Amino acid sequence: MPHRLSQRAGRTAVIGFVLIALLALAGTASGTTTPDAPTTAEYVVSGADTLAARNAVAAQGAVINAAEHGVLDVTATPREVDRLRALGYRVERRVTAAARVAPEPAGRPGDFPPQDSGYHNYPEMTAAIDRIMAEHPSLVSQRVIGQSYEGRDIVALKVSDHPGADEDEPEVLFTHQQHAREHLTVEMALYTLRMLTGSYGDDQRVTNLVDDREIWIVPTLNPDGSQYDIATGSYRAWRKNRQPNAGSRAVGTDLNRNWAYRWGCCHGSSGAPGSDAYRGSAPESAPEVARVADFVRSRVVDGQQQITMAIDFHTYSELVLWPFGHTSKDTGPGMTAENAAVFQTLGKQLARTNGYTPMQASDLYVTDGTIDDWLWGDQGVYAFTFEMFPGAGGLSGFYPGDEVIDRETSRNREAVLRVLSYADCPQRVIGEGC
Ligand SMILES: [Zn+2]
Repeated sequence: MPHRLSQRAGRTAVIGFVLIALLALAGTASGTTTPDAPTTAEYVVSGADTLAARNAVAAQGAVINAAEHGVLDVTATPREVDRLRALGYRVERRVTAAARVAPEPAGRPGDFPPQDSGYHNYPEMTAAIDRIMAEHPSLVSQRVIGQSYEGRDIVALKVSDHPGADEDEPEVLFTHQQHAREHLTVEMALYTLRMLTGSYGDDQRVTNLVDDREIWIVPTLNPDGSQYDIATGSYRAWRKNRQPNAGSRAVGTDLNRNWAYRWGCCHGSSGAPGSDAYRGSAPESAPEVARVADFVRSRVVDGQQQITMAIDFHTYSELVLWPFGHTSKDTGPGMTAENAAVFQTLGKQLARTNGYTPMQASDLYVTDGTIDDWLWGDQGVYAFTFEMFPGAGGLSGFYPGDEVIDRETSRNREAVLRVLSYADCPQRVIGEGC
């Protein structure tokens, strides 16, 4: 079924589709327990030109890949398509498919196609991290925080001046690749790791931040899905993890709908295992989410969460997003006016550094069970989601060529450093003390 994409691929450009994509997000909540047909495909939905319409589309279980001017690019099951049509939307199969979803020739099994060899698969990522650690043993340590469903290590790298010691310094968390096909985010993790270690001692600002912060990098939350996405040597456009679902042939949970804060509350995820936005059988039912959540909870010292700020990297759409995703209200329970002002002010400031578009997550459409909502709502961490390059595209947007890696990762250098610099007192961004 995932082959559906490769068969029709080709390099046809995605035509005339200017989209402000969205991404990490996508929702649904049909509440049905009937397993959906497990085969999802890419569709174009017309007539959804308001936030309410986007929320309605997402609430049927379709994952919105991109949206602009009332035209949505979605990944959906046949059943979800039926529901969208019943609501009166025009839904067409995207036959142009994605320009790069199945480039030819294919790579070796488990690897990227040859023309994208600059991307790191999981073993290559591990080797790259090992090399950086060997070069900078006094700046980087690694801990295995758990295993994925299929048993791959999920690691957290710590960059600091005494990485083996737990110093009393503000901590920052960077997470990557909750969604399997968003491979550019792994490159972002490697970039940040190289940038912080490589500039240490040369660049005074970086040196000070590494000295005065404890920086955690989780380079992939979804190693199983990532390897599955390239298992044939071509791209499958896989999003979820690879955990089976009881009573269904459909595999996988959308990790970024599985976090334990207002899980499944608000028609911002799907209860159907076949959906690409399936929220899982319970909060933290995905082992990958549970292990990272455990790790974050382990950073509470003397009742105080040491992590003050976070960025969760996704592709694509070039957006800076902040909580909450589960409600379209700017303030309310768990979000004071001052909290919202910090998010808005800093979010806009970060977006000026990289040229992304800033907005509250729910301004795209409502999502629930996301990491940002959990990090903020449950742990009090000022957490942002970055949707990286490109700004627009269909499924091809998930597979930019490897020639963009350097440009599109270093594009976030200033934003990463800015977040690190505010980590001692995020409220400083609105002129408040701590
Ligand atoms: Zn994503």
